[in-house]
Amino acid sequence: MREFSRSVALLLCLVGASVALGADRPPNFVVILADDLGYGDLGCYGHPTIRTPNLDRMAIEGLRFTQFYCAAPVCTPSRAALLTGRLPIRSGMCSNARNVLFPDSTGGLPESEITIAEALKAKQYATACIGKWHLGHLPQYLPTRNGFDYYFGIPYSNDMLNKQTRGVPLMRNEEVIENPAAQETLTPRYTAEATRFIRENRDRPFFLYMAHTYPHVPLHASDAFKGKSSRGLYGDVVEELDWGVGQVLDTLRETGLAERTLVFFTSDNGPWLVKKLDGGSAGLLREGKGTTFEGGMRVPGIAWWPGRVKAGKTEGAITLELASTLDLLPTILSLAGITPPSDRPLDGYDISPVLLGTGPSPRQGMVFYNGTDLFAWRKGPYKLHLSTSLYSQKERVNHDSPLLFDLLKDPSEKHDIAADHPEIVQDILADIAAHKASVAPAPDQLAGRAR
Ligand code: MG
Repeated sequence: MREFSRSVALLLCLVGASVALGADRPPNFVVILADDLGYGDLGCYGHPTIRTPNLDRMAIEGLRFTQFYCAAPVCTPSRAALLTGRLPIRSGMCSNARNVLFPDSTGGLPESEITIAEALKAKQYATACIGKWHLGHLPQYLPTRNGFDYYFGIPYSNDMLNKQTRGVPLMRNEEVIENPAAQETLTPRYTAEATRFIRENRDRPFFLYMAHTYPHVPLHASDAFKGKSSRGLYGDVVEELDWGVGQVLDTLRETGLAERTLVFFTSDNGPWLVKKLDGGSAGLLREGKGTTFEGGMRVPGIAWWPGRVKAGKTEGAITLELASTLDLLPTILSLAGITPPSDRPLDGYDISPVLLGTGPSPRQGMVFYNGTDLFAWRKGPYKLHLSTSLYSQKERVNHDSPLLFDLLKDPSEKHDIAADHPEIVQDILADIAAHKASVAPAPDQLAGRAR
């Protein structure tokens, strides 16, 4: 009897300890980033022929944003902003000389920047970057030097062909393991790496940054998806990405981690329209990648966390609250119980009230940079364009009389209402002037190239 009660006591003790451990354990975070996926390319965002049942289900179970922005209209600055919560102008990760990093670039994300992965190390998170990096391919800039325990993927875009191999290298940690990478294998291999990472770290908090290579051109799908979509190869590629998202969510369900994991899906910039049928769609938004019209920077944004995000709300709900990839760092740190860096300006907000349904978004606007120049500014429903450019025409147009659109009434930016609302134009111009006065541009990381 005494032995029995002692083992019961021990058992209760262990149960108590593990409950306490569970209660103390901060949540896991999975950020899935598509490359050049447009606002209109998913079933749940209105695409009529691309089938995305996993993302559609994620949206039904979670929360779908209709006013979600990446922080730049091209890859490198957008990714720098996502991982640091800071406008690229502050890290030097945007440029008017070269819009992204290339295989001959000598720069990268400065060591002084703090990534989400680095900040989460305060609570011993396991961290992995799987997929496209594009924040510097030289050793000192790799994910493994930026807070990630593990890296598997390509260091820059899949169209940046190495002169010798006519392809792009595939890396594991700091080693090239395949050159050229077999591009049609990337989505399934990233997916296998991601699900393995989740299973291996099921007993500790983790952060998975899964940055898919596609649907960036050149498009490649595996045999299982090639020729299957009525949207053609672009549809095949997006449907395979959707499958990959389903595998990640299924793995979280199977391991019992769904209720302790926030998953956020988005895209690094809008669709690459000049690629015609190989590029995606921004739906009813104007223009695409490389521009500061809505199609260049408003992207899909889906949050999923069973029992926490939108708990008890109607299925299929959307939010009109403003949010951005800039907000991921402050939000993730807040949910993890980690104080964000206070020694530098952050441009993101903690949007956990929107995710958890406890309050409105602290974000009231959005700034639109093209390279190092401020082109446009959103405040509430209004967006003011000082300058515009089209990806297909390199010249920018500076508007002596800025254009003003009401994005809630006119999401396609068709009807300029500046003449009717001079007071709104003046109000936004004052905000822009204050912002510019507060920003100290960092040295350009993208201009330098090896001779
Ligand atoms: Mg991109």
